[in-house]
Amino acid sequence: MKTGNFIHNPKMRSFLLKFFGQKNFFWKLITPLLKLQKNMKTDCIFCKIVRGEISSKKVYENEKVVAFHDINPQAPVHILVVPKKHIEKITDLEDSEEDKEILYDIIKTCKIIANQMKIAERGFRIVVNTNPEGGQTVYHLHFHIIGGRQMRWPPG
Ligand code: 5GP
Ligand code: ZN
Repeated sequence: MKTGNFIHNPKMRSFLLKFFGQKNFFWKLITPLLKLQKNMKTDCIFCKIVRGEISSKKVYENEKVVAFHDINPQAPVHILVVPKKHIEKITDLEDSEEDKEILYDIIKTCKIIANQMKIAERGFRIVVNTNPEGGQTVYHLHFHIIGGRQMRWPPG
């Protein structure tokens, strides 16, 4: 069992709670680690890109999101915007302030990237593939910004 799963396991947490008590220094020490662990998945390719463990051609980064060139571009401009927090897919976004801010930040970043790549005026497309029939292959939320050529409809 991985350390993260072990620590987040409800039985283990209630055991630790009984053992260390609620106000113990121990909890203060591990809470940031638990948060970090919950927000980052060790085996996720985009989390690895966020952490810089896998190289990518980054075009933009702020506190909440990272944007980088897609490794297999489908158009002259093909950028992926991903939240730093590991969220598997758009339907997993929660009604929390944190997730609302993340979503707002992603959209703002799409606008920044469109201007940066000089496709804002000509036009571009934002795509969020979701689950198997939606064509999602990487299960870490990402917005594709595609542009630099005429888009067709309906999409394949
Ligand atoms: P999806 O199919 O999930 O909508 O999109 C995943 C995208 O991630 C694909 O367009 C794919 O080319 C891209 N991708 C997969 N692995 C990597 C990688 O290691 N680096 C980069 N930059 N893009 C990747
Ligand atoms: Zn991830």
